[in-house]
Amino acid sequence: MTEFDFINKIKKKVRLKNKGVILGIGDDCALIDAKKELLITVDSAVENVHFKREWDSGWTSGRKLVRANISDIYAKGGIPVYALLSIGIDYNKKGEFVKRYIDGILFELEKNNIQLIGGNVSSSRGNMFFDLILMGEVLKDKFKRRSGANVGDLIAVSGNLGDSAAGLDILLNQRRDKDKYKKLIMAFMLPEVRYFGNQKIWDYVTSSIDISDGLIGDLNHILEESGCGADLQKDRLPVSKELVEYCDRYRLDLYRYVMGGGEDYKILVTLKNNTPTEIIKRSKFSIIGQIEKRRGIRIAGIGCRYNSFKHF
Ligand code: ADP
Ligand code: MG
Repeated sequence: MTEFDFINKIKKKVRLKNKGVILGIGDDCALIDAKKELLITVDSAVENVHFKREWDSGWTSGRKLVRANISDIYAKGGIPVYALLSIGIDYNKKGEFVKRYIDGILFELEKNNIQLIGGNVSSSRGNMFFDLILMGEVLKDKFKRRSGANVGDLIAVSGNLGDSAAGLDILLNQRRDKDKYKKLIMAFMLPEVRYFGNQKIWDYVTSSIDISDGLIGDLNHILEESGCGADLQKDRLPVSKELVEYCDRYRLDLYRYVMGGGEDYKILVTLKNNTPTEIIKRSKFSIIGQIEKRRGIRIAGIGCRYNSFKHF
């Protein structure tokens, strides 16, 4: 199969026709009529770094790449609309995995109404990789930066932390009882991402970030951009019972996963101090602390020895 046939196969599978797309796959560039402000983001997935062939058929890993990308757009209050996909594959060992991976990407894009408008294919002699660029629309008053936190704001997260990092741990260590921890593995393989831009809570959000590198690391981004510090309450951190069970069983430090684990894809926000409790509850956010003037992060009871995930 030539590169041209390969691209044509992808093109045929793209059924969405967004009215903003004047020119999609098939020319030197795509042309879009962007009437609104656009958010633009890119994420990479590299074989043996972000995914492994033995973990799935390719389908779930492909879907995950799209979700990781959507998470960034959601964190800013936007809705993803267009995508570009750059692929690097070893032509000698292409096969079924690549096909399933791309099908997973296309499925998740279509499910979220995102039109693939172009991309690239090149040969990578070693590990394969996929780079996905997403563009999303956002209304001015919905857009939230990392830099908007104020002293006195509440700090809140949209769901349980640490499950994904534990799921990865289970896969890497090939735990024999891994069937008991399907929820943790799925939190890693196919994290749920949720949009809050259409909920009441969003009007009270002063800053926002998605948690991809661990709570402490990502909270630090907000604090540095906003020029403030934070007091966290350990007992308030939302933790699943599966994670508690797993850490008990293998004598692991629960809070290493909760505070330093990566790829949770929950949203971390700061909220105006007067946000009604009812509204926070309805969106299922947990208040975990408060923004303070004093720089750094203090966690009642344990001090701050938990680091974020390091890429290099
Ligand atoms: P050029 O050499 O001019 O960059 P290509 O031959 O690489 O063009 O690509 C031809 C068309 O196919 C372009 O519209 C490009 O965006 C699209 N395309 C290439 N690779 C992909 C891909 N992986 N996914 C979607 N579209 C792609
Ligand atoms: Mg060209």
